[in-house]
Amino acid sequence: MSAFRDQLVSEGLLHPAGADGIYGRSERFEAIVEALDNAVSRMSVGDGSERLRFPPAIPRETLERTKYMQNFPQLAGAIHCFCGDERAHRQLLQCIETGEDWSQHLSSSELALTAAACYPVYPLMAARGPLPAEGLLADVMSWCFRHEPSLHPTRMQFFRMREKVRLGQAGQIETFRETWMDRALDFAKALGLPAEIDDANDPFFGRAGKVMADSQRNQRLKFELLIPITDETPPVACASFNHHHDHFAAIWGVKDQDGALANTGCVGFGLERLTLALLRWHGLNSDDWPLQVRAQLWP
Ligand code: ATP
Ligand code: ZN
Repeated sequence: MSAFRDQLVSEGLLHPAGADGIYGRSERFEAIVEALDNAVSRMSVGDGSERLRFPPAIPRETLERTKYMQNFPQLAGAIHCFCGDERAHRQLLQCIETGEDWSQHLSSSELALTAAACYPVYPLMAARGPLPAEGLLADVMSWCFRHEPSLHPTRMQFFRMREKVRLGQAGQIETFRETWMDRALDFAKALGLPAEIDDANDPFFGRAGKVMADSQRNQRLKFELLIPITDETPPVACASFNHHHDHFAAIWGVKDQDGALANTGCVGFGLERLTLALLRWHGLNSDDWPLQVRAQLWP
């Protein structure tokens, strides 16, 4: 399916872990992920962001309120648990023994898997009251889940997203987004990666999805940093730059000092995809990468 994936696996960078798009990461792979994560930190020194880390689960309600289930039901994952009594437990074990589907004995929990790292930020900030005049900036990193099993190494089911999240006035969000598009392009260039920024094309679900995708493009809601990684697929998004206007603010009640709804935006770096881009363009052994590329990652 993907020659690059076969190479990554045979060279021991990624270890298939039982399902398509689920991998164990080798030490060599993780060293690059960590270096990229640190490089993003260095890019934003002095920005004054608040560092926050959440576990990779969100209240299921978040998927309802954000309209994720309208737009991307095919990508969502919810957590189910066994909550039965001993009789139900016996039935569950019997199902397993006879090879039947035992998920019928599970009940839905109040949790879903995190789909994007920034989701927990908005309710937290809303609960603190009106934003300060200069707005707020948060820094998050989370494992994210997308149910898109694939043999293409760039399309994983679990991956890490490092995000900067800005809350404030529309103009502050635009400035933030433009700053990060410049930073990301410069960074890609310094890493020797052939990158370009373009309008995003998200996989909105169903027939209504086409309207959503057109509107996303027309309103310039999302841009992506695109880099070619495998020969079989077009360039993939390695970072994205979003202006949500008051979408999240309206859901959670994020207000500015005058009591009006705030705007929000986020910039997300796909740490695995950036790692794969480096491996693709500079070879599978990071010790042999050009010195100027290594200097960017391990200064
Ligand atoms: P795509 O259009 O390729 O599905 P996306 O636009 O849906 O990606 P975002 O929701 O913007 O992605 O997520 C932010 C970043 O997370 C992306 O720019 C990308 O680098 C990374 N990412 C998204 N989906 C995956 C995935 N399945 N595997 C690895 N990284 C991913
Ligand atoms: Zn986000």
